[in-house]
Amino acid sequence: MEKLFDNSVALVTGGGSGIGEATALMYAVQGAKVVVSDINETHGNSVVQKINAGGGNAVFIYADVSLPEDCRRLIDTTIRTCGRLDIAFNNAGIGGEIHPIADMSLEGWNQIIAVNLSSVFYCMKYEIAAMLTRGKGVIVNMSSILGAVGFPGSAGYVAAKHAVIGLTQTAALEYSVKGIRVNAVGPAFINTPLLSRAGIDDLGKKSLVQAHPIGRLGEPNEVAELVCWLSSDKASFASGGYYPIDGGYLSQ
Ligand code: NAD
Repeated sequence: MEKLFDNSVALVTGGGSGIGEATALMYAVQGAKVVVSDINETHGNSVVQKINAGGGNAVFIYADVSLPEDCRRLIDTTIRTCGRLDIAFNNAGIGGEIHPIADMSLEGWNQIIAVNLSSVFYCMKYEIAAMLTRGKGVIVNMSSILGAVGFPGSAGYVAAKHAVIGLTQTAALEYSVKGIRVNAVGPAFINTPLLSRAGIDDLGKKSLVQAHPIGRLGEPNEVAELVCWLSSDKASFASGGYYPIDGGYLSQ
């Protein structure tokens, strides 16, 4: 039976864990050759092994997406080893420093902007150049519900995720007519290692769950389903959009 991504090459940044891992596995099940990229080589390679052991096709390429040179090398190596780039999920990100604005360090601000925002610009810059050579491509950028509303203690994260939506819209205006669709996804709180690392106590977790009208947090697979749909030809008219996937969080 024909699969969604037969003969396609799909790149996932931050593919070693959480939402990136779930999406890399789903891309592979749907027939894509998957480039798993991450700053954590152990996690990235273990996702690649999982895919290949299950009969899929994946390779690992190291890149720290906060560095423009790593992003350039990542796309170059993808084209050299896989021959093409059809789909890119710019997903890598961190939670960053948690402090109110007056107490936030300059290093903390610069780090979150580099990893969660500048990385999306760097990756798109090289991905789009590669996709233009074939006149076809799909990009999904990782934003958040915090791309649409504020959140105390997370000014850098919120600013970066808002800006990812603006970057996505601008890329769609520039390149949709040239065959490249660009969209952003906005998950609410999802059960991943990023959330576990945030050091939220039981009481904090309870109030976080209550903030979701659906009555629970999301799972990585639930986000991966949306990313796969946006990456597929089923979403052929979707470009420039911001797609919350949030159990009702933003409806309040
Ligand atoms: P995660 O920590 O499970 O996975 C993130 C991956 O990104 C890790 O493998 C990590 O090694 C990698 N990474 C971190 N910095 C990197 C860098 N500089 N270069 C390359 N790779 C790097 O987290 P997750 O929850 O799966 O988050 C994935 C994305 O989803 C992030 O952009 C995050 O902001 C976003 N997001 C997460 C949630 C949530 O609640 N978990 C909600 C909305 C949006």
